Amino acid sequence: KTFEELGLHQDLLRGIYDMGFSKPSKIQERALPLLLANPPTNMIGQSQSGTGKTAAFVLTMLSRIDFTKNTTQALCLAPSRELARQIMSVVVAMGKFTAVQTEYAIKDNLARDSGPITAHIIVGTPGTMTDLMRKRIINVADIKVFVLDEADNMLDQDGLGDQTLRVKKYEHQPYLFWFKMLTPSFQSMLPRDHPVQILLFSATFPDHVRSFASKFAPGSNKIEL
Ligand code: AMP
Repeated sequence: KTFEELGLHQDLLRGIYDMGFSKPSKIQERALPLLLANPPTNMIGQSQSGTGKTAAFVLTMLSRIDFTKNTTQALCLAPSRELARQIMSVVVAMGKFTAVQTEYAIKDNLARDSGPITAHIIVGTPGTMTDLMRKRIINVADIKVFVLDEADNMLDQDGLGDQTLRVKKYEHQPYLFWFKMLTPSFQSMLPRDHPVQILLFSATFPDHVRSFASKFAPGSNKIEL
């Protein structure tokens, strides 16, 4: 299969070829039809890095954005700033021929005095993303896609201190439980007129990740990438 046959927008095809990709990787060929289908369905992907999963979820985010609106429509959480930067570089490269606007939600960027962020895609780490949402600097009313990359690393209680998603406390929430950490009124800001497509990727699936994933991303297509 070619990228054209996957039904990607012309502007994204230009970005893809500009990056030097000629055809989809095996996993992209398998995952993209599921990721791009309508109505959107959640996905739980088991994958190591090196398979091309980043491009798969970045193309999903870019494909779902309505560029006529200056609102945030996709969030991507990663366990480290380094990974957030890598993901962002793929967003920027693949979106080169689109009107995509992007923003980081990582600690380094918090120093600046910012008003509301209207970037289409925000990539960041959990602590900072939560903070910006709590302060209403990030508005989630128009979110269409929510990606958790390396979920196992974010859910690891031991390694990441306050950057964990505190799965123990919130795992009973079936849908976007994470927003519950914010004020109760925050719930009213969540999109009600359209589903949020949740994509969760993890290299490993120990019990706590498996149980989190099935609650956080209900009804998922489960695939190995
Ligand atoms: P990832 O698994 O997302 O960490 O990607 C691994 C590497 O594969 C990255 O260096 C990508 O630039 C590269 N890559 C992803 N998709 C393709 C593709 N369709 N053709 C060639 N290289 C790719």
